[in-house]
Amino acid sequence: MQQPNLLFIMSDDHASHAMSCYGSRINQTPNLDRIANEGMRFDNCFCTNSICTPSRASILTGTYNHINGVTTLSTPMDNCLATFPKLLQDAGYQTAVYGKWHLGEGERHKPTGFDDWAVIPGQGYYHNPTFIFPGEDGGIKRTVPGYATDVITDMCLDFLDNRDPDKPFCLLYHHKAPHRPWYSDEKHAGLFLDEDIPEPDTLYDTYENRAKAASVAAMRVGVHMSREDVKCEMPDDMEEMALRKWAYQRYIKEYLRVVQSMDDNIGRVLDYLKEAGLEENTIVVYTSDQGFFLGDHGWYDKRFMYEESLRMPFILRYPREVQAGSINQDIVLNVDFAPLFLDLAGVPIPADMQGRSFRSLLQGSTPPDWREAMYYRYWMNEAHHNVAAHYGIRTLKYKLIYYYYDGCGQPGTDQPFHCAGKREIASLTGMEPEWELFDLEKDPQEMHNVVHDPAYAGVFCELRDALHHLQAEVGDARYCKDVG
Ligand code: CA
Repeated sequence: MQQPNLLFIMSDDHASHAMSCYGSRINQTPNLDRIANEGMRFDNCFCTNSICTPSRASILTGTYNHINGVTTLSTPMDNCLATFPKLLQDAGYQTAVYGKWHLGEGERHKPTGFDDWAVIPGQGYYHNPTFIFPGEDGGIKRTVPGYATDVITDMCLDFLDNRDPDKPFCLLYHHKAPHRPWYSDEKHAGLFLDEDIPEPDTLYDTYENRAKAASVAAMRVGVHMSREDVKCEMPDDMEEMALRKWAYQRYIKEYLRVVQSMDDNIGRVLDYLKEAGLEENTIVVYTSDQGFFLGDHGWYDKRFMYEESLRMPFILRYPREVQAGSINQDIVLNVDFAPLFLDLAGVPIPADMQGRSFRSLLQGSTPPDWREAMYYRYWMNEAHHNVAAHYGIRTLKYKLIYYYYDGCGQPGTDQPFHCAGKREIASLTGMEPEWELFDLEKDPQEMHNVVHDPAYAGVFCELRDALHHLQAEVGDARYCKDVG
């Protein structure tokens, strides 16, 4: 039996609550739903650091950011590291990546382990994007006319058409969409024009009963947005909640239009696989590098360990091993993807990959020693949306977060953040570390920090010990003031 093909579709900042297969209240994604309906949906897939470059490095290498060195947006990935595409290529796979890379540029950071590639430098553009193609000195830049989501899809279809049919393929189909600032294509520009998109329950959050980190973050809808986010001049005479209401409709519609184009294009690739008779032997995965706040807590962007940002969509179709329409609730992580893909391909998993293959979960069986808690760390501090550095633990029932307000010398941190909005931004420098504890069963929206509630004193101690245990297990150092 030939090794399975792998089509790994990843988007940028697509939250699972904007996918109808995850019960979205705001849009329909019929093509993504095909993958879920014909495969397995994972409801507790989490990133270990909710920010683009670091999460991508964890996905490729199967390691945490303190190990792969990609802790912030200013730490490009060293392309000498072992990655799953390299290992698959060594095992005889034909490999390619098209679209978003965001792991750095130049000889040291360009894609390696791929027979062919074309990637967007940095964030790139939605319209007439520039790509870097293989060539000397890190590659050759060239503009490709068209809409990024269409162009990336065309590149993938070309690869599939021209591949060597005697080899299995590993194709990384990586969308730029739906990263900010959002620009839809002509086809979807008229979507949602005459309707109001339902608001999330927590759009008007006032950040009471939380650590100070929530109220000082500069990612509030409207308040901390620019002209580019709402596609017109920002009104300067609205009070904050009215501005949130107005700006939410402006930005979420454009976000959803960008998502809709992606869904259409993914449908084209799924159709291709069907027509080419490749469905049975191709593993199709859809995920996003992390989640996103869709007005939840009054925010856009990500970074925080809160649910909407922490959770990644993860759906997988593989008719040979996965029952159609199945759902899994176990905790899986971005560091598990590389081991899983290698396992499914029958390629040995290097001992220094920290994630664990969840192939048995795909087959409907959870090993008795499967993890019941996950470790998270956001390393950036102050820079970019004024979010505090923090780490934490999430179990199926609780979440404990420690904000330590220190960049710990990591590149790209501790830089005062200036946003486009006119509101003053509070400095995080000198703030005292804080704990946040949420009872996810009673408070799934994470509105009440119960860390000071005597009823949770025992839970707090247990979780803090478990957090320190996880840190020791993955080889990360705890912050000096986090004692106990
Ligand atoms: Ca991202």
